[in-house]
Amino acid sequence: MEYAVAVVVGLVLAEVGTLITTIYLHRVLSHKSIRLHPAVTMFMRFGTWMLTSISPREWVAVHRKHHNFSDVEGDPHSPHIEGYWQIMIGNVYYYRREANNGDTLEKYASDLSFDRLDRALLRRGVLGFSLTGIILALIMGIGPGLVAITTLAVVYLLLNAAINGAGHTFGYKSFENDATNLKLLALFTFGEGLHNNHHARPASAKLSAFKDEFDPAWPVIRLLEKLRLAEVLSKVDEGWEDHRRRIPRTTVGPLGKSTVAAKVVAKD
Ligand SMILES: [Zn+2]
Ligand SMILES: [Zn+2]
Repeated sequence: MEYAVAVVVGLVLAEVGTLITTIYLHRVLSHKSIRLHPAVTMFMRFGTWMLTSISPREWVAVHRKHHNFSDVEGDPHSPHIEGYWQIMIGNVYYYRREANNGDTLEKYASDLSFDRLDRALLRRGVLGFSLTGIILALIMGIGPGLVAITTLAVVYLLLNAAINGAGHTFGYKSFENDATNLKLLALFTFGEGLHNNHHARPASAKLSAFKDEFDPAWPVIRLLEKLRLAEVLSKVDEGWEDHRRRIPRTTVGPLGKSTVAAKVVAKD
């Protein structure tokens, strides 16, 4: 029973890590579509440190480069270039390969500098993640604690791999780019599965474009906004039409078959 609880704890923490990733690392830092209250920023920074061990500067640089070279030579993690399973299984390897490139960090994330807190603590991502493991082991016991932290790591990494791999391979397209929308993945990744929409309008703080799509991070962002803890800086419902050429909704299957479905009218 305690191991079942440990798996659930790991799953919940993976979802919290994923929510922090999409709001803070992605929408706030990479695309600057939201501004956060300093208290929320601090929460997000510690959350990133303790749940993902990611260096925000590295993540932002790799991600911005991905947008710059989406699915062409230079993309840090394209399934069209590296292969689908390579990304699904080796996403971390491709991420680290680019994150270790000093030129990439300099070129794509020079606006993000380290402050004293980063230098003293948050730069050491492994420390934050280990601390989470130790806390879990102290609360739940060593065995269940290990199960919880392992579940967190595996699920978080799988979801990220799915965004970069499946999110450029399977699903439907509303806009003309190589990314795809996967509604089910969007439910577990707080909207990141609507990746075709995102590549069409990277600066939009909301990743759903049409009425039948749901970005679970959006109500969270709206709530933060109501509490005056966040401010959305980009237009979210207007502009989808102009940004990239709309295409009839198509579903891309594993064998490359596409079926044209009904066109959906915009506005949410
Ligand atoms: Zn992408
Ligand atoms: Zn992005």
